[in-house]
Amino acid sequence: MKNINSLNAVKRAETLMPGGVSSPVRAFKSVGLSPVVIKKAKGGRIYDIDGNEYIDYVMSYGPMILGHADERVVKAVSSSAADGFSFGATTEAEIELAGLINKHFPSIESVRLVNSGTEAVMSAVRLARGFTKRSRIVKFEGCYHGHSDSMLVKAGSGALTTSVPSSAGITESVSKDTLVAVYNDISSVKDLFAAHKGEIAAVIIEPVAANMGVVLPEEGFLKNLIDLAHKNGSLIIFDEVITGFRLSLGGAQGLFNLKPDITCLGKIIGGGLPIGAFGGRRDIMEYLSPVGPVYQAGTLSGNPVCVAAGIATIKAIEKDDAVSKADEAASYLVRSLKDELKNFDDKITINYISSLLTIFFKGGSVNNFNDVMKSDTNRFKEFFASVLNAGIFMAPSQYEAVFLSSKHTKSDIDKTVSIISDALNKIF
Ligand SMILES: *Cc1c(COP(=O)(O)O)cnc(C)c1O
Repeated sequence: MKNINSLNAVKRAETLMPGGVSSPVRAFKSVGLSPVVIKKAKGGRIYDIDGNEYIDYVMSYGPMILGHADERVVKAVSSSAADGFSFGATTEAEIELAGLINKHFPSIESVRLVNSGTEAVMSAVRLARGFTKRSRIVKFEGCYHGHSDSMLVKAGSGALTTSVPSSAGITESVSKDTLVAVYNDISSVKDLFAAHKGEIAAVIIEPVAANMGVVLPEEGFLKNLIDLAHKNGSLIIFDEVITGFRLSLGGAQGLFNLKPDITCLGKIIGGGLPIGAFGGRRDIMEYLSPVGPVYQAGTLSGNPVCVAAGIATIKAIEKDDAVSKADEAASYLVRSLKDELKNFDDKITINYISSLLTIFFKGGSVNNFNDVMKSDTNRFKEFFASVLNAGIFMAPSQYEAVFLSSKHTKSDIDKTVSIISDALNKIF
């Protein structure tokens, strides 16, 4: 694998940007390599500036369920851009996107568009506090909800990968209001409600955790969590920034038939352009300004070009049945891996749902953050280097998901399985 262009670009980037990156995981630090620098991508393939081609399983960490540079989305973006980039006023397009979100998420009676998943969560948390007039929030260890202060306590994703799950720079007065529970352990949540009676505004959760690697909710856990929160006068916030329009068109809540009070969206709803959204019960959403007392605003919120990408993406997902296609690709990958990797049953565990999966370097079940932390990250490092070299682009961390799209082909997957199998045979 040639990498001289990437090496030179990274050298220059490091003089100009902290760690040479705009977001931490991209630095490849946890795998001890110098990152590849990307030139372009199409469908399920991505290309670096040295001309190497990879089968892409990062897929921009989730947005690209249709594959890269889908022609319908490219067309929608160009045509919207030609009509102006931003107006500071309402457009018909944002109303159309709100309608599409409402159609697929019946729990979202009213929605506010923002610019990122982080912003969606930050604002949803403020809204929950304003609505309930309570201060504390319960989150789960290893779940990631973007990088707002109150959510960077025992967080997953890059925060976990770079060993700062609880970031510096967050004051004690903020972090004391974030209570941390154990995923899949309802009694840990009960304990928090008992210790903080009448103080908890909301419980926030990734209904399928995908930022400590993929961890599935156990049967009944989410339903019990919703009931418990409501019994205590708290709201339940589903962070569906990854799972929205991926686990089903209506996200995890559609798949599991559950109804949170507030839902956060991002990633797929912008088709790769920056966007986020939060919405839910109308009586709660009407606490937002200009109708209510909770302030929230954004110069670029509902940006027409981002919204155009989102609408084109959602319509194409509907038309292509892209959720099922991505699911089929993932299920074929998992079945083939399980056949091929029988010898490694006690060394690796594959957690999998829909078009999301993680190969954990650990035997036995992986049901919460503690289990995740028993993974052999040194083995992952070797694995990552080996598959990258053979043409597979995966997230450079044990704690991220493998993302499939509707454009990953059977032959892509056959090639992937053979590369992964070679890598594991070399490592173990
Ligand atoms: C990616 C992600 C976020 C943050 O979204 P950004 O657009 O990166 O700010 C929040 N929650 C979850 C579950 C995510 O996966």
